[in-house]
Amino acid sequence: MDSHLDRVPGGYFSISESGFVRSVNRNFLDMLGLGSAEELVGQHLESVLSVTNKMFFHTYFYPQIQLYGRVDEMYFSFRAADKQKVPVLLNAMRREQSGEGTIDCIALLMRKRLEYEKDTLRSKRELEDLYTETRALNGRLETLHAEYERKQQELMEMNDRLETLASTDPLTGLHNRRFFQSCLRSEWAGSLNGGGSLSLLILDIDHFKKINDTYGHPVGDFVLTELARLLREQSGPQDVCARFGGEEFVVLLPGRGRSEAVAAAEHIRGLIEAAAFGPHRITVSIGVETSAAGSAESGSAEAGETEESLLDRADLALYASKTGGRNRVTHARDLPPGD
Ligand code: GH3
Ligand code: MG
Ligand code: MG
Repeated sequence: MDSHLDRVPGGYFSISESGFVRSVNRNFLDMLGLGSAEELVGQHLESVLSVTNKMFFHTYFYPQIQLYGRVDEMYFSFRAADKQKVPVLLNAMRREQSGEGTIDCIALLMRKRLEYEKDTLRSKRELEDLYTETRALNGRLETLHAEYERKQQELMEMNDRLETLASTDPLTGLHNRRFFQSCLRSEWAGSLNGGGSLSLLILDIDHFKKINDTYGHPVGDFVLTELARLLREQSGPQDVCARFGGEEFVVLLPGRGRSEAVAAAEHIRGLIEAAAFGPHRITVSIGVETSAAGSAESGSAEAGETEESLLDRADLALYASKTGGRNRVTHARDLPPGD
């Protein structure tokens, strides 16, 4: 073997057509961990092949070299002196030499490439694991998000319920005093800012105590509930009815001036007088007040007039209805001066 071939970067060996090694270069011996060419030359190539690779050699290598005279890029393993596998890529070519067939083979070590492939595979698997994990986390995130939205919705509904509870009179289902007063504040502000008239009715059941005393508290409750229903049915979409406390009710009439408010109060009073509350009859006294901005005499709020004074004046008018004989309507502007 010339020394040049000994050190080409790859293993070289030649075999006879029956597979006996004829020559071998230094690099191939190094690949297999053999000391000298004598250890291999004259041996059958199968002496450095594992059983599986022997079969592979018989099934693919021999038929192919016989049929085509060459083998390109065939991958298999030799067995080194220390029994380790030596993975190689094998190229072979058949030639005639003095009437005898010789097969020249070049074996290129594949270890680095295999390691590299293994690394690539490992990275691919890690990447797939990460994708799976990410998908699972995304799924969890979506579930949490949906849960969060559901909780948020529940919270909003709960807040709505609480708000309704906080603004509703439990016995009659009408708005309560607190809610009414906040409506009065905003309607008052609206009326001052050019929203027009604003009238307020206060109703008080006449001699209600007698109903309680005669028929009992539950009957009194029934009458209050029925009266609330009547008021609710009578009120327009802009009006606000509320239970002011005890047997007193208030009705806010935005956009209604003095005469309209008195007419509305009369209408309600008449309806209540005519209505049957089970076997019972009641009457109410009503006090009415209209903001100066909504009264005929003045186009704007009078000095010192507030939503509280509107309420106070309506209460004074109610008192006048009571002292005037009950079951009647009084507008605060019909009270004698100084009242
Ligand atoms: P007036 O014509 O002067 O208004 O006489 P009145 O009897 O209606 O007035 P008074 O203030 O003397 O009595 C009001 C009664 O209303 C006393 C109270 O027991 C009753 N009342 C207040 N709240 C309720 C309630 O929620 N249910 C029942 N059944 N009665 C109530
Ligand atoms: Mg009262
Ligand atoms: Mg009363």
